[in-house]
Amino acid sequence: MNAQVIDGRACARSLKKDLAADVARLREDGLGIGLATVSVGEEYSPGAYELRLRRLAEELSVPYLPRTLPGAASETEVIATVTELNEDPCVSGILVLRPLPSHIDEPTVFRAIDPRKDVEAVHPENAGLLALGVPRFVPSTAASVYHLLDTWLDSVGEDRADFYHRSLIVVVGRSNNVGKPAISLGYERQATVESVDEWADRTTGIGRHTRWADVLIVAAGKPGLIKAEHVSENAIVIDVGINPREGPDGRVHMVGDVDHESVASRVRALTPVPGGVGPVTDVWLLRNTVTAARLLAGHPPADRAAGAPRSPRLLPEAS
Ligand code: NAD
Repeated sequence: MNAQVIDGRACARSLKKDLAADVARLREDGLGIGLATVSVGEEYSPGAYELRLRRLAEELSVPYLPRTLPGAASETEVIATVTELNEDPCVSGILVLRPLPSHIDEPTVFRAIDPRKDVEAVHPENAGLLALGVPRFVPSTAASVYHLLDTWLDSVGEDRADFYHRSLIVVVGRSNNVGKPAISLGYERQATVESVDEWADRTTGIGRHTRWADVLIVAAGKPGLIKAEHVSENAIVIDVGINPREGPDGRVHMVGDVDHESVASRVRALTPVPGGVGPVTDVWLLRNTVTAARLLAGHPPADRAAGAPRSPRLLPEAS
């Protein structure tokens, strides 16, 4: 069997159209919007992400304010930059790009972000709201995973609620920014959810968990981790991994955590890398920035699900 490819680029194009209309409505309502990023040092991955966001913001006419600090910047300097952005009325969304250098404590920096501008929900207040099922913002990667799943289920005529209620979702990787939010969103859909981390891989192996998955979400940052022997026929596989790999020509290209060639011959559907979760994530971050602009102005978003996947099972967001 050859898996259906879930086209993230097509999904992103359709979301972008809606988002352009949201941005225009914001302007009509006299509200400002601006996205700021904070990066420290010159790591390849955050650099590539920053470039994609810059292009997307330009395309949508959303002011974009990148703040780049040298790799040797102190934690105090990073927090001072975040504080400046908190106070800047032109900024509605703040994204601190990971990874930060090892001498900087990420949670300390995240706690410094104004929770109302924290579009990736990394501040403990927003992470807590998400865990309680009343998110102010849904982190863009996990939101995109479920948006792709929901869209694909619609396209094949499966009833979303029925599908999630009878499904086992296995999430490989348990980071605060991808794995854990993906687990929370699975709970919200009343699915059975299992979380697998590298200790399972080192001890009993991940296959004894992943082979039972109806939906397998992989976010480990390990190229080729998931092979045909780790998946069941009929599984839907969402590959979140984005791993830079140097090709024989010396050019860097991206590969996922899933060995697509072997897995595609076995499962029902899967997302490619590139062209899967990544493009949707970028658009979602800008959606969250629109939501932030409305919340900051005291205007609840017209569409309360603007920062969250459209699902009948999604609980309402906090204001
Ligand atoms: P992370 O390093 O913060 O977390 C990785 C998680 O995977 C950890 O919980 C780790 O313990 C676990 N893990 C590592 N090796 C494992 C193994 N062999 N078996 C099971 N679990 C294992 O990374 P992250 O920020 O969560 O990102 C994960 C991947 O997703 C990376 O490749 C990253 O580039 C990518 N990513 C993609 C998007 C997107 O939009 N597509 C967004 C964010 C991150």
